[in-house]
Amino acid sequence: MTAPRFPLPRRRTGRHGETRRRSGATGTPRTAVGGAMAGLALTAAVATAVVPGTAGAETATTATPTGAASTAPSPGPSASVVTSSDSATVTATAALQRAETVTQQTASLPRKQERRIEARAERLAELLESRGQTGASRASERAPLPESGGREALADSATLAEATTKLTKLLDDAESTAIEVQAAPPTPAEVADVQADRAKKAAKKIARHADSLDDFANGRVPAGKMKKLSFAKGETLRADAAAQLERLDVAYHARFGKHLSVTDSYRSYESQVATRASKGYMAAVPGYSNHGWGVAVDLGDGVESFGTPEYEWMREHAPEFGWDNPAWARADGRKPEAWHWEYAPIG
Ligand SMILES: [Zn+2]
Repeated sequence: MTAPRFPLPRRRTGRHGETRRRSGATGTPRTAVGGAMAGLALTAAVATAVVPGTAGAETATTATPTGAASTAPSPGPSASVVTSSDSATVTATAALQRAETVTQQTASLPRKQERRIEARAERLAELLESRGQTGASRASERAPLPESGGREALADSATLAEATTKLTKLLDDAESTAIEVQAAPPTPAEVADVQADRAKKAAKKIARHADSLDDFANGRVPAGKMKKLSFAKGETLRADAAAQLERLDVAYHARFGKHLSVTDSYRSYESQVATRASKGYMAAVPGYSNHGWGVAVDLGDGVESFGTPEYEWMREHAPEFGWDNPAWARADGRKPEAWHWEYAPIG
């Protein structure tokens, strides 16, 4: 059975009046919890309306849900049980008001928890509703209490009280957990996932940069065509390679507490000549290095050695950003260079 849904009101009004049996006024988008709470609120209003005179009951506002549960099981109509049942409704209504507050305040509730609250709220709504309907349908089978117009001790009032207690506890948990969620920083793995996801989504948009340097010769790219790296002073790369390395660096920083140490990036033709002169075989033939296209970096501070945590982490994560230590440069490659990383567009 599904409770009728209404938009979550800022402040409930007309509880005993026009809200009683309207139906179908849905259609406004809202959060799942908000919807459940709204449905629950209406049902509570109906249930309350079925049992009039609540405000006058002497113990209605003092009995706890637990207390109601312990006194409820006696069958048949009796003033004390009716009071317990009323009290459960009062407590349920209070819980609902708190639910609204929590829902409004904790916009960032984990989805899983949101569903749990929603499920619990719906269950409570069903109980409240069946309580109201039972009261109406069985009215003729009992001797009505004087001027009560069909009160009844419900067998499920204990269940109702229990559900109310559970919902209240769930709301307490939701409040505290929501605060914890806001306070706890994301883990390095979570940061890496988020950045990898962004890299994937950006791939199509930055693809146009891939051939942005085709008009130039290797190592002859004007400085203005290169993109500066924010975390490595003086280092530049082709725009798409730079964008993805920036994302990779965010993930790397979350893991190691330091930025990628870039010792070389774009290398002009003259610079390639100089490097070849000093490193000989270890450097590429001038005019053929990926450094001359702005799609290669040399990294240090741990990454430059095979087997370090930095190198291994890079091997695991960098490919998601289009970066990798190419096969020829790996430990078992023809020219091992742990420090040399190249970019190729992903997607
Ligand atoms: Zn290199």
